[in-house]
Amino acid sequence: MEFKNFSLFINQTKVNRFADDLAGGKIMSTRCKKCGKQYYPPQADCPSCMGSDMEWKEIKTEGKLLTFTKIHVPPEHFAVRQPLMPFSSIQFEPCPIGILEVEKGLPVMGWIPKMDIKKIKVGMKMKASPFTLPDGKITIVLEPI
Ligand SMILES: [Zn+2]
Repeated sequence: MEFKNFSLFINQTKVNRFADDLAGGKIMSTRCKKCGKQYYPPQADCPSCMGSDMEWKEIKTEGKLLTFTKIHVPPEHFAVRQPLMPFSSIQFEPCPIGILEVEKGLPVMGWIPKMDIKKIKVGMKMKASPFTLPDGKITIVLEPI
């Protein structure tokens, strides 16, 4: 699987393995073998010590929600289409998106597709999981646990 199949449309990267692992159900980080700093999203080089000797490490996917918002005009492949209204074009349902803090404070961003935004609370326990969209692209979703 190419990295372009991840939802961000990036096709030039030194961390191509990230999308392959997501497709396999794992959310991966990188860890600097020299200074021990861990990165998510994964980085090929360590901004802390400038080293490039990195190892891949699966992250723990449960954590607490740091923050969230809703996207009113999501990328089309994330959108839930609503019926057409008179005198308007296509309407989309606002989609919640949040940042989950997992092990060692790593921030994992993901869509929150199965919850009413009024029921989402900062600090709630959630789990991040890879999710394959109908068009084959892969993203990350957050669900309460
Ligand atoms: Zn380092």
